[in-house]
Amino acid sequence: MKHKWSEKALSPDGHSSGKVCEREGCEIVCVSRHETDGRGWPQHWKEWFRGTEKIQVGGNTPACKAVGVQI
Ligand SMILES: [Zn+2]
Repeated sequence: MKHKWSEKALSPDGHSSGKVCEREGCEIVCVSRHETDGRGWPQHWKEWFRGTEKIQVGGNTPACKAVGVQI
């Protein structure tokens, strides 16, 4: 099942944007980061959080953990 993403919210410094799954029981947070490395090359990656815990960096989007929803 796919996540039900909120509107994207841009961080004040413009280096990352975040969205949250609005399904009850999932509420995973996806942060898209846009930084430059030490040589000035742009780097893009994604991080996923649940609460304050970082559960994954990069790779595929984790599965939706919503409760009580039929696939
Ligand atoms: Zn979800």
